[in-house]
Amino acid sequence: MRITMIGSGYVGLVSGVCFADFGHDVICVDKDKSKIDALEKGIMPIYEPGLDQIVAENVKSGRLTFSTDVPNSVKDADVVFIAVGTPSRRGDGHADLSYVYAAAKEIAEHCSGFTVVVTKSTVPVGTGDEVERIVKEANPNADIAVVSNPEFLREGAAIEDFKRPDRIVIGLDDDRARGVMTEVYRPLYLNQAPLLFTARRTSELIKYAANGFLAMKITFINEIADLCEKVGANVQDVSRGIGLDGRIGAKFLHAGPGYGGSCFPKDTLALAKTAQDHESPMRLIETTISINDNRKRAMGRKVISALEGDVRGKKIAVLGLTFKPNTDDMRDSPAIAVIQTLQDGGATVAAYDPEGMENAKKLIAGIDYVAGPYDAIADADAIVIVTEWNQFRALDLPRAKGMMKSPILVDLRNIYRPAEVAKHGFAYHGIGLN
Ligand code: NAD
Repeated sequence: MRITMIGSGYVGLVSGVCFADFGHDVICVDKDKSKIDALEKGIMPIYEPGLDQIVAENVKSGRLTFSTDVPNSVKDADVVFIAVGTPSRRGDGHADLSYVYAAAKEIAEHCSGFTVVVTKSTVPVGTGDEVERIVKEANPNADIAVVSNPEFLREGAAIEDFKRPDRIVIGLDDDRARGVMTEVYRPLYLNQAPLLFTARRTSELIKYAANGFLAMKITFINEIADLCEKVGANVQDVSRGIGLDGRIGAKFLHAGPGYGGSCFPKDTLALAKTAQDHESPMRLIETTISINDNRKRAMGRKVISALEGDVRGKKIAVLGLTFKPNTDDMRDSPAIAVIQTLQDGGATVAAYDPEGMENAKKLIAGIDYVAGPYDAIADADAIVIVTEWNQFRALDLPRAKGMMKSPILVDLRNIYRPAEVAKHGFAYHGIGLN
């Protein structure tokens, strides 16, 4: 199959290289010339474990190429995936579909022969219908089938997720497109990954329903954690106690500073907006959004109360800035609101993140970005762990204590055992622990 990916970000690049690895011929396209220039030199524009190696192998085999030229890249393609961003629209929170529509128009103007246009970007229900309309308007003679194929990979484990998905959801109503999509995913299908064919609108909604549910699950355990603190219970034991129930499942039951990242915040918002527009409001999702929004600043206040209510003139060491480990993605990271709250309280902040510092610098000003965890900890009044990178799981606590003004550890990810930390003379503050 000749596959073209429009958009070579976290999703487009990972999907593109994995398709090439399956044996397809793939062109990854992006409008951002600096990304394509970097890729052509073997430099990854994002941090994702294992990505550089698999890209290098597939470039070498000749199955993977890069381009900024949409017209030339789509003209011979059997399948064109749209994997451009769908951020929240400023002002109203709806998904901004302008990049999707622009890509659809350009594809229609330049494709030839039967072409399957697949929306991999996360798009609200009905977007496929609009893409179909745009395509017909742009090129009435084009032989195009519009398909929905949402992506469920997680940053930080993206290649593994793409190659071993729980399911592949494909929304369409065209038999020829069904044959093509089966061929595209044949290597996974042979490995028993279920292909779930649905109507296009259903497929679009599955993606939002999945993310909405997961965001709700995280938010649920976060509220249980708050209650644990009030009533003298332990949220980790509660998580284990409910997660062992097969109907509930153990995943996404880790209490923390609130969900962030490039998907959950914008997708929950877009789902709530879609539901309101269709006069079928989703109160659970609306409430989840509002609880999670409040939680991020509440985590900043938690740090302030660990310092007896006053951080003015104090130095806080923030470890971890990205919304989760093993990514450089800073979009909607809880670290942004936590640090803002500390700054508002008059604290100075020294921060370290293994991969996210360059992206963080574009979003968080007025803090010291330092070269390692102990540079942040030196002379600090407290340590705050915001992201559970492995290298923060085994800090040398005696060394840290010796460098600090006061030994306080606020662990927003519960990666330490309270008793162990206390043994080293630290005041320890986790989430929902007793
Ligand atoms: P991203 O911002 O990393 O990448 C999008 C890329 O598209 C950018 O490099 C941009 O330059 C490029 N682009 C925009 N318009 C273009 C055009 N007309 N032609 C060529 N290139 C164009 O975004 P992402 O994180 O990869 O997300 C893409 C979509 O996938 C979103 O809808 C997102 O919700 C969804 N998604 C993301 C994840 C994730 O973990 N990041 C997971 C599942 C689904």
